Amino acid sequence: MADSFDVIVIGGGPGGYVCAIRAAQLGMTVACVEKRATLGGTCLNVGCIPSKALLQSSEEYHHAAHALADHGVIVEGVKFDLARMQARKGEVVGANVKGIEFLFKKNKVTWLKGSGKIAGPNKVDVGGTVYDTKHIVIATGSESVPLAGVEVDEKTIVTSTGALELDKVPGHLVVIGGGVIGLELGSVWRRLGAEVTVIEFLDRIVPGMDGEIAKHFQRVLAKQGIKFKLGSKVTGATKGIGTVTLTVEPAKGGTAEEIRADIVLLAIGRRPFTQGIGLAEAGVALDERGRIRTDRHYTTNVPGIHAIGDVIAGPMLAHKAEEEGVALAELLAGQAGHVNYSAIPGVVYTDPEVASIGQTEEELKAAGTAYSVGKFPFTANGRARAMGNTEGFVKLLADKATDKLLGAHIIGPDAGTLIAEIATAIEFGASAEDVARTCHAHPTLSEAVKEAALAVASRALHV
Ligand SMILES: Cc1cc2nc3c(=O)[nH]c(=O)nc-3n(C[C@H](O)[C@H](O)[C@H](O)COP(=O)(O)OP(=O)(O)OC[C@H]3O[C@@H](n4cnc5c(N)ncnc54)[C@H](O)[C@@H]3O)c2cc1C
Repeated sequence: MADSFDVIVIGGGPGGYVCAIRAAQLGMTVACVEKRATLGGTCLNVGCIPSKALLQSSEEYHHAAHALADHGVIVEGVKFDLARMQARKGEVVGANVKGIEFLFKKNKVTWLKGSGKIAGPNKVDVGGTVYDTKHIVIATGSESVPLAGVEVDEKTIVTSTGALELDKVPGHLVVIGGGVIGLELGSVWRRLGAEVTVIEFLDRIVPGMDGEIAKHFQRVLAKQGIKFKLGSKVTGATKGIGTVTLTVEPAKGGTAEEIRADIVLLAIGRRPFTQGIGLAEAGVALDERGRIRTDRHYTTNVPGIHAIGDVIAGPMLAHKAEEEGVALAELLAGQAGHVNYSAIPGVVYTDPEVASIGQTEEELKAAGTAYSVGKFPFTANGRARAMGNTEGFVKLLADKATDKLLGAHIIGPDAGTLIAEIATAIEFGASAEDVARTCHAHPTLSEAVKEAALAVASRALHV
């Protein structure tokens, strides 16, 4: 095996593996160090992919048990087999991680198995062997944020990793944190029959999401039986036999109460993973939130050391990490790599899905930007009616003076796919009128996007 490469990437998640593949495509010799037994990082192993597998399976069950009769499809005695659901999830993950291994072979990326550490300028140590490289890319990702007094054992007090592995449906699942991960996994176990309570410090769920959409989202989840305890903080957890008792106080102070749970899911956020990589020894600077500080070309304060993905600033999303991986590889090849941070979609894969891109109404107000709003409900969309899936609406925000699209927020069926049209529109600097004048196939959910674009100019046709 070679002991010298043009690029060594530390971390084989979506940021790292994509950067490695793109750099190899551009003619560089590349190695990727990954300490996990499989490639794909958090996303493929314990994040996006397994969570979506369980969301899909639990949705199929819920649909068969509760929605098919309305379509005139009678399925009696609907049951689920959790062991099979979990096995299927494992198969999905297995196929995905093997796929990355195949892509590495195809693109001649060397997988250096083990823990990588910066061993000096242009040197990386992997399990005692030191490799030379022109460029080091740190893509070590993130980890779950701990909470004082709530000790994770991944059995009764779990992070998302443990919540994806439960072998029986908890009687009462308490989710600490009303963010995307907690709500997605709360939905999985709610659909399978758990009582689910979400405890959130703030007085709203999904902080950062457009406020109107977040309120609607909470109402929809409440209708599905998820209970919310907002403005509350968990200050301690006491484990009993098979149960946990949480101490919960009002966030602003006041009388504490106790809440009993069978399983507690700690999901208060993720933080950059920067330990054991030799950053301090190499003199790599972190920002005030412990993220690796980089310039716009993903280079740290130390020449030859770069960083991408969850370990740097920006939304902790797999596709953001991938875009940065591509941009960095292209920059290293002397090309003009670039990521447009105004056009990164975010999706919550609940039912209905919630998707957003660009600015929220709150952000536009805070910036003093004059804007127009166009909204269209799925109740007025023929396809959504035919599907029996009419919850939610599309909301577009456009500059009042120029009509340029500034943001899109969708709660409704397949919102995560619908948002891609607006991502393309924003990338092309499109106006709401551009989307409104584009012919959309009938009957499709995408017509709701077109109608919302028409509504920006108060000329929606179907409401
Ligand atoms: C439950 C859950 C669901 C999620 N769902 C979504 C979703 O639906 N959509 C979405 O966009 N994002 C989702 N995310 C977030 C997404 O997983 C991350 O944003 C993404 O994985 C970040 O990619 P990355 O390459 O920066 O880091 P990671 O994927 O975290 O990969 C980093 C890799 O580096 C390795 N590593 C660390 N240190 C070393 C070392 N010293 N040597 C060798 N290897 C090392 C780690 O083992 C890891 O494999 C989810 C996350 C979770 C936890």
